Amino acid sequence: MSTLRDEAIVLRTYKSGEADRVVVMWTKEHGKLKALARGVRKGTSKLGSGLEPLAHIDVLLADARGDFHIVRQVEHVELFSRLRLDLDRLTAGCALTEVVEAVPLDGVPDREIFIMLSRALASLDNTNFHPYLVPAAFYLKLLVLDGSAPQLDECVTCGSSDGLSSFDAEIGGALCSDCHRGRLLSSDALALMRRLLGGDLAGVLSDDPPPGSYEVHELAIEALERHFGRRLKVARSARPPETSRDDR
Ligand SMILES: [Zn+2]
Repeated sequence: MSTLRDEAIVLRTYKSGEADRVVVMWTKEHGKLKALARGVRKGTSKLGSGLEPLAHIDVLLADARGDFHIVRQVEHVELFSRLRLDLDRLTAGCALTEVVEAVPLDGVPDREIFIMLSRALASLDNTNFHPYLVPAAFYLKLLVLDGSAPQLDECVTCGSSDGLSSFDAEIGGALCSDCHRGRLLSSDALALMRRLLGGDLAGVLSDDPPPGSYEVHELAIEALERHFGRRLKVARSARPPETSRDDR
């Protein structure tokens, strides 16, 4: 029986049979895999404690028949324990794993997603940062990674860079007031999306959530749901507090 060793983030686990657990994980080199952890629910297995959702692990898997590998060994790389103590951080983490599990398995670079996910979880685990815009930034960057970056510099219809005031998730970009389509886009939300996509996530997370945060989360999840062609329940719920909703 051949084996493979890889780093992985545990996305989700569920019970199987009397004592086993299925672990859905995103690995660094092999993308999404499912593996059976035998006997972990009996409490005598050495595998159990490493397999919590959101854990970053180093795992040895054996090939098995069908879709499932078999977990042979697990070591923690990072448990993200501060993330687990705070409901907002934990919800945001679960939003990320829901989204990653929904990534269509055709052509998206596995390693990039692994790196993005482990970095985003590290940001959620960092108590110097607030967690509220980590999911939205992740959704936007995932769109970029998949070749569907939202167009924010000029109107998607006429090319004007002035007066961008609406956003259409279906076309994937901002529109000027003459070409208005989709939902309203405040100048705060536009500026914030540009900051998130321009590499200023650490700056955005270090201060209180800026104006436009709630709106950007709504735009980002809507664009991602359109892109995936499915609804993302947890990801939608991991939104910034209502207090940061814009008064327009
Ligand atoms: Zn226009």
